[in-house]
Amino acid sequence: MNASSAVDWEGVDTVLLDMDGTLLDLRFDNWFWGTLVPDRYAAANGISEAQSHERLALKFKNVAHTLQWYCIDYWTRELQLDIPALKRETLPRVGFLPGAEMFLRKLRASGKRLVLVTNSHPTTLAIKDEGVRLTQYFDACYSSQPFDAPKEHAAFWPRLAAREEFSTQRTLFIDDSLRVLQCARDYGIAHLRAVRRPDSGAPPQSTADFAAIDGVAELRQRDAARRNARAGRARRAAADHRRGARRRIGSGRRSARPRSAGRREIVPDEVRARAIRPEAAR
Ligand SMILES: [Mg+2]
Repeated sequence: MNASSAVDWEGVDTVLLDMDGTLLDLRFDNWFWGTLVPDRYAAANGISEAQSHERLALKFKNVAHTLQWYCIDYWTRELQLDIPALKRETLPRVGFLPGAEMFLRKLRASGKRLVLVTNSHPTTLAIKDEGVRLTQYFDACYSSQPFDAPKEHAAFWPRLAAREEFSTQRTLFIDDSLRVLQCARDYGIAHLRAVRRPDSGAPPQSTADFAAIDGVAELRQRDAARRNARAGRARRAAADHRRGARRRIGSGRRSARPRSAGRREIVPDEVRARAIRPEAAR
């Protein structure tokens, strides 16, 4: 646990969230591009799996961190494989990261503006949404494709800001890509969190100097722990007030008032309110 990774939700109005590796399990994408596509490419071209992996590695490397990397139309042309059809065929494998959907539900109920910001192609987003109904939780959803720059390019952020008004000082952005996070940091977004475990089947990744969380579910747990600690402090303060009041009553003039009535009068309303506040949806 790293206390610096906890979010000060009072200072956040807008939450920008990445999709793959932040909300949805990157295990699917890693399997799709690392196993399924090479298998289908090998079969379609009559080559061995090893040859297929070798050719694809080169093709992937050539367009890494560009819009083409994320563009399924590009890969459909380049590989002569129907990538959208493959995505549909394998849709049952798409799923949320542990606790991510509950995190979205709670965040939705908190009243903050929720914005999905993904490099995924709009077609990919639409297909995945058919499977997991992700977009229902958001006020707005943006694919970087129409912005003509992926999130890891400086040009993306002012273009997003031109479409989606947000205060950099009061915005939280969560992503699993350090390049993307660095770009968001350079743009001035104040609250950043890196996801340490974007793929549930892989070891945790390094998150450099970014405040990190294993996954978004952790923020709920931490918030709940902080609220519980706050409620505990309030309960102890209330108990101290009661003890102090009893001592004062005991050492001063006798009161005919029943103890329970004195307790109600002595505990300040705001302390009591904090002590009994239900778990807020944050
Ligand atoms: Mg991602």
